[in-house]
Amino acid sequence: MSDLLANLNPPQLQAVTLPPVHALILAGAGSGKTRVLTTRIAWLISTGQVGPHGVMAVTFTNKAAKEMTARLSALVPINVRGMWIGTFHGLCNRLLRAHYREAGLPQTFQILDSADQLAMVKRLLKNLNIDDEKYPPRELCHFINAHKEQGVRAGQAEVYDHYTQKRVEIYAEYEAQCNREGVCDFAELLLRCFELLQRNEPLRTHYQQRFRHILVDEFQDTNKLQYAWLQLLAGGGARLFAVGDDDQSIYRFRGAEVGNMRDFERDYCADNIIRLEQNYRSHGNILAAANAIIKYNRERLGKNLWTDAGDGEPIRAFEAYSDIDEARFIVDEIRELVRDGVPATQCAILYRSNAQSRVLEHELFTKGVPYKVYGGLRFFERQEVKHALAYLRLLGNPDDDTAFLRVVNFPTRGIGARSLENLQAAAHQMNSSLYNAAASLTGKAGQTVGAFIRLVETLRQETEKLPLPEIIEHVVEKSGLAQHYRLEKEGQERLENLDELINAAATFVDDEGAIGEGGALASFLAHASLESGEHQAGEGQEAVQLMSVHAAKGLEFDIVFISGLEQGLFPHENAVSEGRDGLEEERRLMYVAVTRARQRLYLSCAQTRMLHGQTRYCTASSFFDEIPEELLLKLNKKAAAPAPTWGGYAAASSEPVAGGLRVGQSVEHAKFGLGVIVATEGRGADARVQVNFGGGAGMKWLALEYAKLTPV
Ligand code: ATP
Ligand code: MG
Repeated sequence: MSDLLANLNPPQLQAVTLPPVHALILAGAGSGKTRVLTTRIAWLISTGQVGPHGVMAVTFTNKAAKEMTARLSALVPINVRGMWIGTFHGLCNRLLRAHYREAGLPQTFQILDSADQLAMVKRLLKNLNIDDEKYPPRELCHFINAHKEQGVRAGQAEVYDHYTQKRVEIYAEYEAQCNREGVCDFAELLLRCFELLQRNEPLRTHYQQRFRHILVDEFQDTNKLQYAWLQLLAGGGARLFAVGDDDQSIYRFRGAEVGNMRDFERDYCADNIIRLEQNYRSHGNILAAANAIIKYNRERLGKNLWTDAGDGEPIRAFEAYSDIDEARFIVDEIRELVRDGVPATQCAILYRSNAQSRVLEHELFTKGVPYKVYGGLRFFERQEVKHALAYLRLLGNPDDDTAFLRVVNFPTRGIGARSLENLQAAAHQMNSSLYNAAASLTGKAGQTVGAFIRLVETLRQETEKLPLPEIIEHVVEKSGLAQHYRLEKEGQERLENLDELINAAATFVDDEGAIGEGGALASFLAHASLESGEHQAGEGQEAVQLMSVHAAKGLEFDIVFISGLEQGLFPHENAVSEGRDGLEEERRLMYVAVTRARQRLYLSCAQTRMLHGQTRYCTASSFFDEIPEELLLKLNKKAAAPAPTWGGYAAASSEPVAGGLRVGQSVEHAKFGLGVIVATEGRGADARVQVNFGGGAGMKWLALEYAKLTPV
């Protein structure tokens, strides 16, 4: 036990060992909030104040939940499996699975991710003959989700003009369709769970009595409904322990309310607010930059972060000619760091928009650097994986129209658009699922769609008794998916992903705790919808971490690259156009990004960038100006880059080694001093040379484009 508390500073210790009261820990980035929360759980359990059964912990990502579980099992000798530690979505999903009947859901209900939701809304508009230019599907999704996040059903929505009236009608149709299909979108998981607990008194009392301690990380990003859900669960005397940082509130667009922190103070614990001010994560210069940036925001609750870790290195700033050039710079730096012994997993590349990852991924891929993308086009969102999952979903729930439409004609079975339109019309008229309506089709459509229905039935029978990984293997093979990709020119990678899906299922079933009510298949499908690429290829392998700034919240890395720091991209133009509030939210995002770094931080921007199919000419982000100049080290490497010619770097690539350098040539390097080239490799923009710098720096491989070598 003393071990448990040994490495805490006084306010941390105070927070961990608070008596059973409601408490708010309000503290800046890297001050140990998550550590305090985890240690408190361990302390409560090991002092016998509560059993693992009586604790609920809400984390922000699945990755964080896993880390917390792992840390907990290292701290106390208990079985952490089956503990209620997870995200809001994950915990609600679990509760709904356990009580699906009371919640009015089929046992194997499926979760619609945002792409599925969009597809469903589009389909609905088509069925209802509504002009999707007047009512853009994306906006409708936003409208629906925003209402659900406020706890408002279609029947209760406020109608103030004709346009909204129509949107509310579509919302109502959407709800009805989801109920018919037995599917839930993300927001629905929460709302439905909330309503279930509110309506069902015995169930509510059961959980209220069960959870004695409810702990919430990243509290600043909870929305109104999540807060109400917590209040409901804590209604039986549970103690709420919330940790958060108002400066890291970055989900306003999703309805998060920093106001919840003030409400929490008012509703629960005016007396138990603890502030942590020492930062244990970042070196001084990084922290100074973060503090300098966030200072520009108004209306902060106010915190003063300090560290005794020393200033550390300056912050490296790099301005590239183009996004490709920027990616090259980042990847080359990483290769050098890895060569010097930095683990690749400790290098993170962050970006504001997921679309930015493509160029970075391409560069990492061509240079053979293993990497892993969190969020964005995630493993479970890849086309082939979604196809396989759709077949699996149909096995569990044939009424899932989204899954049905995804694979009814994939691989192609000669089912035309016309047949599908007829089928949709019939289903609409019969008020049934597409699957059920198929029997009413006649003629050729009846035959082709009928064959598909038989295929699904056969698959179901054949896989009934198989373990999960074999179910998937069987379905991938017998549905024709595998064969389809075998014949496709670029299909190899897709086949590998399908294999990886089987691997993911195998890992999943090994973890018995992961399998809940409804069996392995339903649990796995729920996991696939909820998780962001955490089982993707190469789990456990050393890999560079790529993610959006949003996805990086709560995480830390030795080396962080923040890329695309350009006006309009970061800060994002949409936010900037909203005025001051928008810009402040972007600034909090930048604060989150900067505070992820432990030892070294790189900030980069490009003068031109391809985005959404267009070349944009960019200026550097205003955030550069908010960082005191003396903290920055400008890497003026572009001087050594070939002058950009029309068409990129084609001109340079015709030479064997750029700059006329050859083996034996003496050179001077700004940092390493004098040396002699001993080997060369690659061509043009990819050219690298190995230089012997003698006793000081020794042998180094350097990318010619960036290394600023002067022949002497
Ligand atoms: P964020 O706001 O980014 O979520 P946080 O406040 O949750 O940050 P943690 O992630 O808990 O901070 O801690 C940051 C780092 O500091 C972690 O590596 C943690 O182990 C370390 N740390 C926290 N407290 C101490 C301490 N008292 N002694 C040594 N290291 C500590
Ligand atoms: Mg944290």
